[in-house]
Amino acid sequence: MLNVPSQSFPGLSSQQRVASGGRSKVPLKQGRSLMDWIRLTKSGKDLTGLKGRLIEVTEEELKKHNKKDDCWICIRGFVYNVSPYMEYHPGGEDELMRAAGSDGTDLFDQVHRWVNYESMLKGCLVGRMAVKPALPKGDPSVVPFTRDYREEKKILNGMLPRSQVTDTLAKEGPSSPSYDWFQTDSLVTIVIYTKQKDISLDSVIVDLRDDSLRAETFIKDYSYLIHTGLSHEIQEDFSVRVVENVGKIEIVVKKKENASWKCLGHPLEDHNSFIPKKDTGLYYRKCQLISKEDVTHDTKLFCLMLPPSTHLQVPIGQHVYLKLTIAGTKIVKPYTPVSDSLLLEFKEPVLPNNKYIYFLIKIYPAGLFTPELDHLQIGDYVSISNPEGNFKITQLEELEDLFLLAAGTGFTPMVKVLNYALTNIPSLRKVKLMFFNKTEDDIIWRSQLEKLAFKDERFDVEFVLSAPTSEWNGKQGHISPGLLSEFLKRSLDRSRVLVCICGPVPFTEQGVKLLHDLNFSKDEIHSFTA
Ligand code: FAD
Ligand code: NAP
Repeated sequence: MLNVPSQSFPGLSSQQRVASGGRSKVPLKQGRSLMDWIRLTKSGKDLTGLKGRLIEVTEEELKKHNKKDDCWICIRGFVYNVSPYMEYHPGGEDELMRAAGSDGTDLFDQVHRWVNYESMLKGCLVGRMAVKPALPKGDPSVVPFTRDYREEKKILNGMLPRSQVTDTLAKEGPSSPSYDWFQTDSLVTIVIYTKQKDISLDSVIVDLRDDSLRAETFIKDYSYLIHTGLSHEIQEDFSVRVVENVGKIEIVVKKKENASWKCLGHPLEDHNSFIPKKDTGLYYRKCQLISKEDVTHDTKLFCLMLPPSTHLQVPIGQHVYLKLTIAGTKIVKPYTPVSDSLLLEFKEPVLPNNKYIYFLIKIYPAGLFTPELDHLQIGDYVSISNPEGNFKITQLEELEDLFLLAAGTGFTPMVKVLNYALTNIPSLRKVKLMFFNKTEDDIIWRSQLEKLAFKDERFDVEFVLSAPTSEWNGKQGHISPGLLSEFLKRSLDRSRVLVCICGPVPFTEQGVKLLHDLNFSKDEIHSFTA
């Protein structure tokens, strides 16, 4: 719904606006860009009509505000007057009106749950919903923090009945995890029992901050959160171990003083919850810009360093959100981490102490986010979210042919997929990349790709240019049935195949349609989207 960050992209006349399906964007009037909206919110204008007051909104009251010029929407318990925002909404007024006078949380989450609406719409905040949901009986997460030690230990040893486990989850989801902790003189170990075998180091994200520990474990499409304020001080560095065959995760932290802890600590927000991943918020940590290198005339390789107090590995094929404050408003955009080079031997899993995340990012001079990113100095900070995305490494298992179709920076998810497949999939016979760009100068890592094709006979790359110079004697044009049918030849009649596609949305949509026409099944196609 509040499809904000990509509001003005692509340009009005660009082909990229001619999406054949999915979420459509409407042309915005002059003076209605995201930057214009930010300016309006800063202008001091009363956007709610309440002269800065915040009110409690009943359901009956909310329902009354269901017209374009008087439109209130509730998102996660907060009510916004979105009428002033209507003309700035890239998804159009009609899309916003679908939630008029009602709870728009689900609609919002369906489109872009990562959009920072609290920041975007803060000037439109009317107040909170007056009706508070009744708390489930005996929910341990609502036990007051002031309980005595024995009760606290009961809460924090993770052995209590499932907390915050939804009905659906209890019926259909994976078994509810639990946790416990133990200590030596110098160490405290928190053990998470995931009850799941396919757990790896990228299944858990740990952040230590101000003597609190936040460990989010991803188990299938669910998230299990340990979130506690620790009872004693700890050192900054820690280690994470995974015992894969029993699905056990151990987080080992170092005590600052060798004293015995009576308890681990006290529960913080959403502690010991196990809920669908889609219902969780995105958690950010500040990362430092370490280096920035030119790759093409407009694309750069950024290296960001995670804080020492974070364990985070972005799974192959997934993206993160980068967050910057631009003109006082928090803006987030998705980016897909890459390896620092195509030619290095790929290590899997990435070393636990690997603290660097690389991004290939194209700078759009008229863009909102990328010029700000480009202006950062080495040593400056950017916030990075937890990873998202629906690519699963199991899609590569036992693969024989891997075809990659990338346009422009749509190449980024292909980098790790390509590296992983060539290094870890013994059944693989062929990997072919068809890379669409405007001109030769736009091709990211061209010489690395050519070297890789020379080095590894399973790999081939083909460049297709839409605006080549007269000297270009390679393939030309846009994605088309002719180009694809020639390119997508299986190495064997019935080989196990995966086609990955990524680029501007209409490119991807058109590509997927063509792939279906060429009789590739749904399971044989993976399109990277937000
Ligand atoms: P925007 O403000 O969105 O504008 C982009 C361009 O659109 C402008 O420069 C301008 O040329 C044009 N434009 C803007 N407004 C107008 C207008 N009113 N009229 C005409 N033209 C206009 N990008 C990467 O570079 N690397 C990645 O790894 C990467 N990963 C991604 C992963 C996912 C899942 C998704 C969905 C996107 C990814 N992107 C990636 C794209 C990225 O998220 C941003 O969309 C991109 O960086 C542009 O952001 P921006 O705010 O700078 O530009
Ligand atoms: P670009 O340089 O504008 O375009 C790359 C190539 O794609 C060009 O040849 C271009 O042809 C062609 N193209 C553009 N629109 C097309 C369409 N509608 N149909 C067919 N071909 C089309 O690309 P970019 O600026 O790097 O943008 C990359 C896009 O990938 C962005 O939209 C970004 O959001 C997306 N992306 C998505 C992910 C993800 O995981 N979902 C990851 C990274 C990037 P023309 O010369 O005709 O324009």
